[in-house]
Amino acid sequence: MKITRPIQAIALGSLGLAVLVLVILLCLQAFLELKFSSTTWVLLPVLTALASFGVFSIIFQRFLNERIKLIYRIISKMKFGAAKHEVSITKDVFTRLEKDTQNWAKSQTDQIEKLQEQAAFRREFLGNLAHELKTPVFSIQGYILTLLEGGLEDEKVNRDFLERALNGVDRISDILEDLDEISRYEFDRYSLKIKTFDIVKLADEVFAQLESHAAEKNIQLNFAKSYDPVKVNADRGKIAQVLTNLISNSISYGSEGGKTTIRLHELDKDKILVEVADNGPGIAESHLPRLFERFYRVDKSRARNIGGSGLGLAIVKHIIEAHKQVINVRSTEGKGSTFSFTLEKV
Ligand code: ADP
Repeated sequence: MKITRPIQAIALGSLGLAVLVLVILLCLQAFLELKFSSTTWVLLPVLTALASFGVFSIIFQRFLNERIKLIYRIISKMKFGAAKHEVSITKDVFTRLEKDTQNWAKSQTDQIEKLQEQAAFRREFLGNLAHELKTPVFSIQGYILTLLEGGLEDEKVNRDFLERALNGVDRISDILEDLDEISRYEFDRYSLKIKTFDIVKLADEVFAQLESHAAEKNIQLNFAKSYDPVKVNADRGKIAQVLTNLISNSISYGSEGGKTTIRLHELDKDKILVEVADNGPGIAESHLPRLFERFYRVDKSRARNIGGSGLGLAIVKHIIEAHKQVINVRSTEGKGSTFSFTLEKV
């Protein structure tokens, strides 16, 4: 018989003791010619077996509990949350220990993977930031050097070069301001001025502001239909920033002669979905999961020339999430993109 569980070993030991008692009785009878009643022959080995089984179980349980508690204490010191339960011999402790250890090993592996991901993300972020700042810094350096090497005295270029250098400084300042805004959201150091306003009116105002930008590419800005006022509870300034960013992206990355449409859908009695849709070139599906990351761009060189810092959508996402709402994007290459976010309806 293969012994696989402690209880089997204890039963076997108790049986052994009972047999030993039987052998002692036989010896006493054979050598000392003692006579025992039939009750003694039966009762003594049975009682021995039962008593030793009980004593062995208690000793073994205490021993095992002490050992396992020690192991659990060590594991729980290493932040293993499930180590709190008492271990009893009546349960299959080894299976449980094995399961808990596997869970612990899995949580450790998950944590290591997460840390590796974060480290990769940090490396990528630093690389992007350096790259983003390098271009304006080099151009400013070039203009200043040219000015110092004689350009300053040349009436034809001095003012022009200073203005170009100033553009570079403005670009760096925009990037730093965007990063500062993102870090305020990430460290929860923002305050929203929530009030009730009409989202239709706000979208109309943003359309008006971006009209000349849209006209440059002959893009039409319109609503899907004529909407009655829709009152929402949110920070008006921040939602204006979200709409400005999404509409201005739809113009910058949209096709000449295209259109940008705003649609509103009532999701339930206290939620409204705002959609900003364009019929531009669209975005390949592989880019969509990363689109809201800092500095993520689909067409890197083209997007940089168009002008944004690559931080716009990251800020938009933070603003919407600070309102405890969600933002989404769907897009089909060649057909266009639709960015949608929810707002609390009054
Ligand atoms: P950027 O400052 O480069 O505009 P964003 O964070 O606003 O940064 O956008 C990230 C990238 O997403 C853009 O570089 C662009 O490639 C892509 N993108 C955003 N909106 C659209 C759109 N409506 N159509 C196509 N691509 C878009």
